[in-house]
Amino acid sequence: MKKEKDKPKESFTRHPVVVVLGHVDHGKTTLLDYIRKTNVALRESGGITQHIGAYEIVWNDKKITFLDTPGHETFSKMRERGAHVADIAILVVAADEGVKPQTVEAYNAIKKAEIPFVVALNKIDRATSDPDRVKSGLAEIGILVEGWGGNTPCVPVSAKTGERVGELLDTVLLLAELEALTGEPTIPAEGVVIEAHLDSRRGPSATLLITNGLLKKGLFILAGTASAPVRILENTLGGPIDEAGPSSPVRVAGFSEIPPVGAAFFTYTSKKELEEILSRVVTTKGKGDEAPTDIGILIKADVAGSLEALEDQARTIVPDGLKVKFFEGGAGDVTETDVQIISSAKKGIIIAFRTKLKPGVADLATRFGVAINSFDIIYEAADWLRDTFKELQPKTFVRTDVGKLIVLKIFRSASGGRVIGGRVKEGKAPKDAQFEIVREDSVVGKGSVQNIERNKITVDALREGEEGGLLVSSPKAIEERDVLSFFYEDESRTK
Ligand code: GDP
Repeated sequence: MKKEKDKPKESFTRHPVVVVLGHVDHGKTTLLDYIRKTNVALRESGGITQHIGAYEIVWNDKKITFLDTPGHETFSKMRERGAHVADIAILVVAADEGVKPQTVEAYNAIKKAEIPFVVALNKIDRATSDPDRVKSGLAEIGILVEGWGGNTPCVPVSAKTGERVGELLDTVLLLAELEALTGEPTIPAEGVVIEAHLDSRRGPSATLLITNGLLKKGLFILAGTASAPVRILENTLGGPIDEAGPSSPVRVAGFSEIPPVGAAFFTYTSKKELEEILSRVVTTKGKGDEAPTDIGILIKADVAGSLEALEDQARTIVPDGLKVKFFEGGAGDVTETDVQIISSAKKGIIIAFRTKLKPGVADLATRFGVAINSFDIIYEAADWLRDTFKELQPKTFVRTDVGKLIVLKIFRSASGGRVIGGRVKEGKAPKDAQFEIVREDSVVGKGSVQNIERNKITVDALREGEEGGLLVSSPKAIEERDVLSFFYEDESRTK
């Protein structure tokens, strides 16, 4: 990817945007509510309890923005679109229950987002809480907390009583400091739609998170095909404001339609500018593009002739089942406007064919998850497109059951993993397969095998009737008499 040197821009430190993730019932909502309720600014405003997708607090004179979303749906939606929203995650794990399937899911989402996180060991007010057991469970899924051979911060808290929540906020601010987050306070704002609904009085309204720049009255917002003049602008307390900067969540009313949650938004200084861009967003090239589409592609080329040749080629390699919309590209360099236009698609792809990227374009594309690449040769561009399309095709999983093993005995290994003794009652138990833990006819967990031994010799699989020892890893504890149902799961993509 070609990247032009950016011209020096005015930048300043911005405050962190935090997402709270974790297994259902482990206390995400309680924690978010506690932090919101105890915040001075919120108390003084008369305590608004409305959930609008995000709120901002002040802790030790420093601001923190929280994404106040139930579960991690919004977060995932934004990640799907490639939008970089949260800077820091809090992984909530109940100290009495420990690691659960959604803890693992949340951890995977955090890893994908490549953001630092802190573990909040919640519900420590409960007599049944067992922090050490939970920490060892966390180690089994690869989260090594401080004091347990790693450096992931971990703060025991009670979201209910508020015990040590302050320490958790201190840790969040510390992580933010290490990240040295910056933003530009002067450029027109850009960001992401966090929440949107139809307000009975004010029409389509949205909570927006400004990821960069300044949002102020008099600007014009475009999110997908939804536009709004910035007239009714409020902070998350519902108070009117004139402007807001990077990392701030704001409320904007008066959209032309409900903007899609997770979509990027951009702002323009004139209505004319917005309308020009909107016209390119709604224009599709050629026939057959009217179907609902998830992927947008925009080609910029040196001359009209090569643009046409590449577009024709691109159309022929769109795989079945993938809805692709071709946006007006044209001849010339790739501009920030091109990125803004393609961001209206759920997933945007730009090809720069024998042409350059204007300064700032590569950065903007990265921030909004737009894939962009430069080529001089048509077949190389076509190859990249083919690979990119393949990546974007919906995945399906084909599951093949291979055997069942009955657990006879549980041992503990030195490494902290679990060793079980078992006998294969049907099929086989191969090392490279996954298994489900079946207890009293219901599936209670999932796991994988690290090693198998039979008569003290390492083997690849145990066959029907054979007994052996298996070193396994699974978030859920395995018990004697459980049945491990082995299966392979192969990812296949529809062609
Ligand atoms: P979420 O699904 O992760 O949002 O979990 P909730 O916040 O809805 O909490 C689930 C249940 O756990 C609720 O009944 C809460 O009152 C309770 N709970 C949450 N945090 C704590 C805590 O720190 N201590 C105790 N004792 N209960 C808690």
